[in-house]
Amino acid sequence: MVFDFDYNIIIIMSSKHDHPMVPLAVLLRRELSSEKIERPDLIHGEANHSKKGEDYTLLKTECQRLPADAFSTFSVFALFDGHNGSAAAVYSRENLLNNIVGAIPSDLSRDEWLAALPRALVAGFVKTDKDFQDKAHTSGTTVTFAIIDGWVITVASVGDSRCILESAEGTIYSLSADHRLECNEDEVERVTASGGEVGRLNTGGGAEIGPLRCWPGGLCLSRSIGDMDVGEFIVPVPHVKQVKLSTAGGRLVISSDGVWDALSSEAAMNCCRGMPPAAAASQIVHEAVQFKGLRDDTTCIVIDILPPEKLTPLVPPLKKHGKGVFKNMFRKRPSEPSLVDKDYSEPDVVEEIYEEGSAMLAERLDTEYPVCNMFKLFMCAVCQVEIKPKEGISVHAGSSSRGKMRPWNGPFLCTSCQVKKEAMEGKRPSRDGRSSHSSDSD
Ligand SMILES: [Zn+2]
Repeated sequence: MVFDFDYNIIIIMSSKHDHPMVPLAVLLRRELSSEKIERPDLIHGEANHSKKGEDYTLLKTECQRLPADAFSTFSVFALFDGHNGSAAAVYSRENLLNNIVGAIPSDLSRDEWLAALPRALVAGFVKTDKDFQDKAHTSGTTVTFAIIDGWVITVASVGDSRCILESAEGTIYSLSADHRLECNEDEVERVTASGGEVGRLNTGGGAEIGPLRCWPGGLCLSRSIGDMDVGEFIVPVPHVKQVKLSTAGGRLVISSDGVWDALSSEAAMNCCRGMPPAAAASQIVHEAVQFKGLRDDTTCIVIDILPPEKLTPLVPPLKKHGKGVFKNMFRKRPSEPSLVDKDYSEPDVVEEIYEEGSAMLAERLDTEYPVCNMFKLFMCAVCQVEIKPKEGISVHAGSSSRGKMRPWNGPFLCTSCQVKKEAMEGKRPSRDGRSSHSSDSD
């Protein structure tokens, strides 16, 4: 059997990190040749301490890439932290997974499926937000959405819930972005450039209090699903990161901001070391609430990704109380694809396969895959409706980066997704936002 992996190379971003990024193609080839494909065992647990009842989770371990193929399973662990009501969180919990899977062609091999996932996540998030807006609810939600397939973990996130990974050797990686205006200058810049106003709550008399918020609406977040009463520059385009664990495994923790406002990543990992996932999740929630009091819904999901048949809790042996090595993901967009394809020895580290956080659909939906093969040319790249050849609008339409135009000029959007795209980029007046600085929502 001949595998053509060449197209994989384009999704590999170069990295300034202290370990090299390994092309997905290399990883897969390695799996196919030298190692039999062993899938990890997953055990998970969750805990919640509710105040407003607006946190929702989705824990689904037997999803199938191919219908009726037990070997094509993947798992989904997702957290939705709602605000201003729970409708957006509930709606996303019910529809997002289907919208993501619906954006991936059905006839892909596993490696093609994994390579298509980052783009499908973007399409699924945007479609879910757009469909929800049509229902005219004003609530919104953060989403932290982890898909685990074998040793590959793909995390898409909007908002300020957080997903961290501790590898077996004790390094902590952040797999999500923090879309909180207070701590993300790039997002303040983007929101401002798209017509939003960013500032603190004004109490009158010139005193400004609280975190940075976006006006109209007063939201602290720069990305979410829902929030149609806020400007459309609060976009649902997720940060996506894809990594591959070594077969030594690791522990994944997903928590709402109620945890992260109280605990650092290291503190969360350390406080539950040696505990099985359910107890670990309870411990993290307990520590957070004890430290700060129950000020918000506080939810935690813990997933241990274990070498097969090693069904003991992951106890990265009591090492120097956490190495304090924290991999930050707020680096600039990588410039050139890395074409490294050397003979990698199996390193006991987490391989970074893909990372992208741009809010621009032209960048996120653009791929150099053979388009007829990967994504049907006459389907809207966001909502997957069929479009007639002359009705599709290129995702690059109106783009200033003319040099980058592909000959075929796709992928294409339907008219209504094009309207959505322009609104998100501030090129259309967003719908009737309230413009007072006095409302208070986060
Ligand atoms: Zn569409």
